[in-house]
Amino acid sequence: MPGLVIDEGGRWPLGRFPELAAAPRVVHAVTTRDGPVFGTVGTTADTATASGELAAELGLEGAAWARQVHGGKVLRVDRPGPAGEADALVTEVPGLLLIGRSADCPLVLVGGRRPGGDPVVGFAHASWRATVAGITARMVACLCDDLGADPASLRAAIAPSAGPCCYEVGAEVRAQATTALGAEAGRFFVPGPVADRPVGEAREHFDLWAANTDQLVRSGVASTAIERSDRCTICHGERFWSWRVQGEAAGRFAAAIGIVHRR
Ligand SMILES: [Zn+2]
Repeated sequence: MPGLVIDEGGRWPLGRFPELAAAPRVVHAVTTRDGPVFGTVGTTADTATASGELAAELGLEGAAWARQVHGGKVLRVDRPGPAGEADALVTEVPGLLLIGRSADCPLVLVGGRRPGGDPVVGFAHASWRATVAGITARMVACLCDDLGADPASLRAAIAPSAGPCCYEVGAEVRAQATTALGAEAGRFFVPGPVADRPVGEAREHFDLWAANTDQLVRSGVASTAIERSDRCTICHGERFWSWRVQGEAAGRFAAAIGIVHRR
């Protein structure tokens, strides 16, 4: 499937996934370090300003965002502004842009339709803790069970994040993933490099792209309808904010999705 294509020609560089961009009445974008400037946790004034600017750029009236807390909660939203604590938002309301913010965590965008044709959209902030809590599967379940999406209509995209090349985790992460997801979670962990570590101290890398692709497929999204950026924010810290590269100085980039009004 096609990956992320970044358009440098607008007010800010904006990335788009070609298949998701072709979904009727669904708009989306992935921002970069070049703006708009989203606040980190607790700096909601920046987030409100940047979210409104991005919504306007995409032709929508307003934006909603969550206080992302690395859990498994999905909220259905119908109005602009702060939506509360959650790691996924869904809506069927035209004109409203859902904003996910990240510095290393995968943001998963999903768009689809009800059987009558009306669009529904959602995003998940799939940090390792939220991934282990099943956030992407919960978001798709909310789209289908609560908003009435036809699973066959769903298209999904996974934005840039810390990749399996770099995303080193401790043994406790694998243990929690195995407890929550079962022994088969082991296939989402790959051996890290051993050259620079003493024998016995090599750490594993958590492949969050694979783990969230798995949640999408198990939730009924066709594997051919899933686009992955496969761009690692740690490898590409110059383009996307990375908590592991920039630390406290890291800003946030966004992946956002919404519905345009019927013409
Ligand atoms: Zn990498």
